[in-house]
Amino acid sequence: MTIERHYQPVPQPPNKHERMEIRKKLGYRKVQGFTPPAREGGPAYLTAHACFDCRKSWKLSEESEATCPDCGEEAHYMGRSFKAPKKSDVKQWRKVELLWLAGFRFHTNTRSRKIAPYPEHLREVEKFILDNPDHPFREKR
Ligand SMILES: [Zn+2]
Repeated sequence: MTIERHYQPVPQPPNKHERMEIRKKLGYRKVQGFTPPAREGGPAYLTAHACFDCRKSWKLSEESEATCPDCGEEAHYMGRSFKAPKKSDVKQWRKVELLWLAGFRFHTNTRSRKIAPYPEHLREVEKFILDNPDHPFREKR
């Protein structure tokens, strides 16, 4: 029995880069539910998304349109420096929700500008929102 040696390229499964291209073409923006990150500190830009009703947050890729796996509502884009309060901390979640609804997002102050820090307590939120109409982390409508 002879072993046939051939130098034709053997079909290979797509490599990582090619898979990315395929996924891009197929469109991976629609992410249903919670997709856990492959590993901590991976190359993808994962950003906190949260569901205020369920008081949960997940790290998702920035462009994903995610829904909450618990209630099916939209998981809101929070920003990269968002830290979720404890699930039991209803007041802190309410504070975060009010800030979010007013357009505030959770970013890191990278340019060491003087930026008014977000309020620590729920009772301070209303005043904070009124006092900071042009806050740099506030989305304009
Ligand atoms: Zn939910």
